[in-house]
Formats: sequence, C-alpha cells, structure tokens
Amino acid sequence: MNLGADLGAGSFGSHERWMRLALAEARAAGEAGDVPVGAVVVQGDRLLGRGRNQVEVLKDPTAHAEILALGAASTALGDWRLDDCTLYSTLEPCTMCAGAVLLGRPRRIVFGAPDPRAGALVSTARLLEANPYRLAFEVLGGVLEDECAELLRDFFRRLRVRGGAQD
Ligand SMILES: [Zn+2]
Repeated sequence: MNLGADLGAGSFGSHERWMRLALAEARAAGEAGDVPVGAVVVQGDRLLGRGRNQVEVLKDPTAHAEILALGAASTALGDWRLDDCTLYSTLEPCTMCAGAVLLGRPRRIVFGAPDPRAGALVSTARLLEANPYRLAFEVLGGVLEDECAELLRDFFRRLRVRGGAQD
C-alpha cells in the first residue's frame, strides 16, 4: 500500500479531473435522497463506468456507488478483471466495497474523504493490505477531500433540519 504517495502515471491534477466526475455522481445521489457518494472506474484515459449510491432509491443495501461503478466497468470491458483500472470514490470504501475491489482487482483506489466510521482501507481497517489474493493495491486518499466531505456534511445537515421541522 502506498498511501498518499505519488501514483506514477496519474498526476494529482488528473486524479482531480476524475474525482470531479465522481462528485457529479455523488451530487445526483444526494438529489435523489441517497447519501451523496459517487464513484467512477477509469482505464488509462477512458471512463469505463460510473455509479452513485442508490441504496434508498433501489432499496438495496449493496447499491453502493463503488459496487455499481465496478459492475458498469466490467460490463463495458466485457471482463470482470479490472487489473489496470483505477477506482475513484468520493468516500473511502466500506468493508463490502473493499471486498468488491479485492475481487475486481482495480489496482488503484483513489478516494476523496476518509470515513472514520466505516472506511475499510485506512480508517477502521486496512482490508487491501495482506489480502488473501496476495495482490498489491495502491491507495491514495484526500483528492478533493474538502468538496467530498462538504457534500456529505450538507446532506446530513439538511436531513437534521428536515427531521426537526417534522417534530
Ligand atoms: Zn461501500
């Protein structure tokens, strides 16, 4: 694991470019009433898949942005192996999504905001390290962190206000 280290081919600028697309997905999730998390999967300079959190919309606990983006990318590629791909997510992936990363193998994971409550890459666990498949992953956190975190804070602030108004 190479947290915060330079990822070679991808400069921080290009990471921000893709993270902005993930942020657009996150905003759309929030507008639909889901916790605003978005993700994209990129191969080289090609966007393969995008996803937004749709747990509420689809009534599906597995409909996390990363899962949907990985699935879309596999469909686009015609292969479940995403070895040379990068997964961008606005929020540090949870345990389930880290599991999907282990199975789909995108070797780079770039996230925006850490998730101290459920993040499974660096915050509550380091699931990609010493994994049973002996695969090496590169993890970079903090890309557009403020924007990614602010979107979440805004969402929950508005929920609380709405909840209060109903009382
Ligand atoms: Zn997840």
